[in-house]
Amino acid sequence: MSLNLHRMQLPREVIVGNGCLQLIGDVCGNLGFDKKALIITGKITNHIAAQKVSELLQDEGLEVDCHIVSSDIPTLDDVMQAEEVIEKLKPQVVVGVGGGTKIDIAKLSSAHKGAPFISVPTSASHDGMASPFASIKGLDKPSSIKAQSPIAVVADTSVIINVPYRFIASGCGDVISKFISTRDWKLAHEKKKEYYARYAASLALMSAQHIVENVDFFKPGSEEGLRVLLEALVSCGVAMCIGGTSKPCSGSEHLFSHALDLLSPNQALHGEQCGLGAIMMSKLHGMEWETVRDTLKKVGAPVTAREVGIPAERVVEALLKASKILPERYTILNEKQLTRKTAYELAKTTGVID
Ligand code: ZN
Repeated sequence: MSLNLHRMQLPREVIVGNGCLQLIGDVCGNLGFDKKALIITGKITNHIAAQKVSELLQDEGLEVDCHIVSSDIPTLDDVMQAEEVIEKLKPQVVVGVGGGTKIDIAKLSSAHKGAPFISVPTSASHDGMASPFASIKGLDKPSSIKAQSPIAVVADTSVIINVPYRFIASGCGDVISKFISTRDWKLAHEKKKEYYARYAASLALMSAQHIVENVDFFKPGSEEGLRVLLEALVSCGVAMCIGGTSKPCSGSEHLFSHALDLLSPNQALHGEQCGLGAIMMSKLHGMEWETVRDTLKKVGAPVTAREVGIPAERVVEALLKASKILPERYTILNEKQLTRKTAYELAKTTGVID
């Protein structure tokens, strides 16, 4: 018998603010984690925040171990190594401290081992901090894997504000791209009868609008801007928790970014690439693409491929490749079927290439 169930796993506690890292012990205590924790972090983020987290948890009487991941790009090997550590130490909770990579490794390894996971982001460059999905490299296609929702998110603005502003602008790019991903999801629903959760889509869309409405706060060193961004990123994560899919937050603009990752790995940040994709895909959708571009420009995210050193030809290639990497994801690219000529024109008319 098949049951028509919709199961949503949501974070139970989300704390955003200046100095909120101090509350990590409290958070663990409230959730009943009072004996043993494992921190998963990187070398740099260990100094930035993880050592502090460790001290704070030890002050609460917890036994704390720390697993330091050395690679910058998360692979299945890193996840398996983290799983072995969890298996051996059997912590009550795994605390992921870091940017996207370390959070993803902690999220996926804890999910595989059935341990709850707390997310302590040290960067805000994309929407993974509160989502139930992890992005892992080295698989046959770039995709996000279902892991688990964090049971708590502790995002300290006084920690994250220290990263170069480029990462914050990139986070804005990832959120602004929800104008397009939500359209693509609706399109897939209308054309392919795909499951569509209006509430999840609205929440993702609201996050993008939140950035537009508060765009003047975004400048280097602005804590108000960072707070707006963190709220938006958490909402995006919750939208994916509610939808049970990454679709509210990942459409044709993300496919373009995935294609760029295959063609020129590590050229630009995820949110920067999604932002460029969002400009072009909004034109394909017949939306007001100039508004998307102007918002990106105002927050300081790149609006041309030149700004991030991606050659024009690579942009055209990525546009052509985008619809083929995840064929099961129906987007505007399936409707428009770009040719080399129309892809070039799209990139050129939107000013992404010159
Ligand atoms: Zn993204």
